[in-house]
Amino acid sequence: MDDHDKRKQFSPETLMMSYGYNPQWSEGAVKCPIFQTSTFVFNTAEEGKAFFEIAYGMRDQKPNEKLGLIYSRLNNPDLEILEGRLKLWDKADACAVFESGMSAISTVFLEFLKPGSLLLHSKPVYGGTDHFIHHILKGFGIHTVGFHPKMSEQEIIQLVEDTGHSDQLALVYIETPANPTNALFDLSMARRIADRFSRDDAPVYLAVDNTYMGPLWQHPMEHGADLVVYSATKYIAGHSDVIAGAVLGNHELMARIRGLRTFLGNMAGPWTGWLLMRSLETLKVRMDTQTRNAQKIAQFLNGHPKVEKVYYLGLLDESQPQQFAIYQEQCKAPGAMISFDIKGKEKDAFTFLNNLTIIKLAVSLGSTESLVEHPATMTHVDVSEEDRAMLGISEKLIRLSVGVENPDDIIWDISNSLDKV
Ligand SMILES: *Cc1c(COP(=O)(O)O)cnc(C)c1O
Repeated sequence: MDDHDKRKQFSPETLMMSYGYNPQWSEGAVKCPIFQTSTFVFNTAEEGKAFFEIAYGMRDQKPNEKLGLIYSRLNNPDLEILEGRLKLWDKADACAVFESGMSAISTVFLEFLKPGSLLLHSKPVYGGTDHFIHHILKGFGIHTVGFHPKMSEQEIIQLVEDTGHSDQLALVYIETPANPTNALFDLSMARRIADRFSRDDAPVYLAVDNTYMGPLWQHPMEHGADLVVYSATKYIAGHSDVIAGAVLGNHELMARIRGLRTFLGNMAGPWTGWLLMRSLETLKVRMDTQTRNAQKIAQFLNGHPKVEKVYYLGLLDESQPQQFAIYQEQCKAPGAMISFDIKGKEKDAFTFLNNLTIIKLAVSLGSTESLVEHPATMTHVDVSEEDRAMLGISEKLIRLSVGVENPDDIIWDISNSLDKV
């Protein structure tokens, strides 16, 4: 390589195969092995002392001094290399990997909310997140308030003020596009709301669950987010065979998240880390194929005589100016999640679901295989009837996660099943 090549900024998809790993560490192995070990040997007692001083924040790291390996609850090569690769997509300073998306999300909540704090969140959110907010945070004396996609900035500000706890607002938490309706929330608006209630001694942070779009199709930190969270179970792992999560952000906030992770002990293990590194090598090709397939499938569904309405980012246009503007501002691709209302009732939706052959009837999303489910009776059954009605989660709604199969086969399966309705 000449100097010019060395200075080239390689794309994340190029770096996923090798970044942060040196084959000389492992007998020349081209792939990073699984460091299935709980603890690491120190060369000297002095070295062990220095590692602990840094790990526990007792002194600052000297230039070029690295945090040495101590114990796999604090750090492990599979996690460190994986975190180094994951942060490239969102251009974050730092990343922490967790044993599930829920442990990533709950760690963010527990770090930034204290008894008396107020959490402002978008609605709907993932069912597990919704449960954590309404049943677990409440038990810690944390106030929460949710806003829906049709509310204006002014209405949301009013909502915060009406809680009587606006001076305690500590965290704004957004999930966009919203699962299962694909409604979009404006991240720059969320940033303005966070800033409006921020004080120098009490900043209001903005965290975004980017599971539906990331890490390829939307980069929330470019739109003002402080923290990005993922269920890595979905697109990042992408094969429906592992549960994992991640949080990304700047050095300061991630030091807090990593600190709490160390003491909750909810980090991912080396085997999970290794599986995710393997998945990241094909992240771009998988997600590119999935979004290409989804666009074809959405076109097929749109206008089909048995389908009432299709909710897909790739079908947004000037007829929905507010949603279309957010899409153009925030999203780099329409993604691979399609929801649609079938003509009829629950019985008709179930007939459709029961007659599919290639597409599997299962919750979860973002995997290589296409998955379909019925939100009103499955993933979102816990949402109040009033909220379901307002948000459009009706008995007619079907959610489809598009995989990497040949799209013509998927269309055949859908067409065949719709004929049975
Ligand atoms: C699946 C999911 C989660 C929870 O992640 P787990 O890995 O199942 O713990 C959180 N948010 C969204 C948007 C999800 O789809």
